[in-house]
Amino acid sequence: MTKIGLEIHCQLTNLKSKLFCSCKANYREFEINENICPICMGLPGSLPRLNQEAVKKATMIAMALNCTTPDKIAFFRKNYFYPDLPKNFQITQLNIYGKTSIGGTGSIIVGDKKIRITRIQLEEDPGRLIYEGSSSKNLITLVDYNRAGTPLVEIVTEPDFENPKQVRDFVNILSDLLENLEVSDPGLDGAMRSDANVSIEGGNKVEIKNIGSFHDLEKAVHFEITRQESLNSRDIQIIQETRHWDDKRKITVSSRSKEEDLDYRYFLEGDIPWIIIDPKTKENLKSNMPESISSKKERYVSKYNIPTQVATVLSSDKFYSDLFEESHTEVTAKEIANIITTDLMGLIDTREKRKESKITATHLKDLADSIQSGKISRNSAKNALYEIVKTGKNLSKVMSELDLGNVSDESELLGIIKAVIFEELKAVEEAKSNPQTINYLVGKVMQKTKGKADPKLTLDLLKKQLK
Ligand SMILES: [Zn+2]
Repeated sequence: MTKIGLEIHCQLTNLKSKLFCSCKANYREFEINENICPICMGLPGSLPRLNQEAVKKATMIAMALNCTTPDKIAFFRKNYFYPDLPKNFQITQLNIYGKTSIGGTGSIIVGDKKIRITRIQLEEDPGRLIYEGSSSKNLITLVDYNRAGTPLVEIVTEPDFENPKQVRDFVNILSDLLENLEVSDPGLDGAMRSDANVSIEGGNKVEIKNIGSFHDLEKAVHFEITRQESLNSRDIQIIQETRHWDDKRKITVSSRSKEEDLDYRYFLEGDIPWIIIDPKTKENLKSNMPESISSKKERYVSKYNIPTQVATVLSSDKFYSDLFEESHTEVTAKEIANIITTDLMGLIDTREKRKESKITATHLKDLADSIQSGKISRNSAKNALYEIVKTGKNLSKVMSELDLGNVSDESELLGIIKAVIFEELKAVEEAKSNPQTINYLVGKVMQKTKGKADPKLTLDLLKKQLK
């Protein structure tokens, strides 16, 4: 049996400052080594100050993953000599004096499988090492400390995954959940990094470090399983080791460094006191948490009668569910859910397109209103949506520029209907005896108007003509 466990490092990208100083958490907008100060550089005499917002956000993540939350948390120094942290230790968490990590055991359902969470830690991100040359033969290593001290949440799971697909489903659910909580933007480069441990057939466990994106995580796990199966089939012993993910060659590579075997000499971080998180604070946090994805989904189904599948897609993506929340009324909910999931999601299917898109809640509201009042057909609405996403122009402007409005002028429509009746004598006779077949004639009118005839008015006028 294959056993896979994960350690997911997730940056709290929506915070203003780093975990222990006032440097910006958004280090990406700085020139190299410009987002630093004596605290995150660990200069002598500097003292860390804990970012309270980071504690709140990390607690929210723990709650959303159904983890226990301790009444007090502690921080520890993990000592290591490596150029990515200039002070030679990382401030992190460890459950040695009781459960003092920000999140205890929890679980989350993925498909029909329960994935257990072992613990959640709040810690500082190290700096970024930049290798010049190929990873196997580095000539120079450069280091950028802008990231050093950025708030990071580490989510550790039990080895409950049995295949790469479950891993992918889990990280998809997790990244939707983090985005919905407004704690992190999983799409930012380097915001989600993982380690995985993989063992097959009860054999030795291999750790894969340094997987830079969720996309690569599934690939890395898949590669490692195949590698171990291939060794097994040739009766070669799988050694317990740490391997690195080489994202250029898309393979795992044995890491010769002995850094994992170091005794990290953990000890309590004396410069940060134990932090009490009292029940009232927890209650406040819980009640102020954004509505969960599953609760949104249930509401969409029960209140608006939106089909479960549509509600699932709509609720799991914060960008779209926000648009939906801002634009819908009780009457237009189903229509807007439909426009978003069948048309809009296809038009802006990447993060880049989403960023460039000019669509607003007002556009969606106008579109749904116009469809429901017969001003525009669903088909033409699709064309209008395309133009709106591209230009951001308001609907009425787009409709007049592209001539997308429905033919709702009674005399104009009557002329077209009369022409259809003249051409379709046989169908007319049939519709007179069997009113069900009138849709064929409606279709002919639609054809003549290129789908722009107001459907309700067309039907009314046709019925009158056939009497
Ligand atoms: Zn700093």
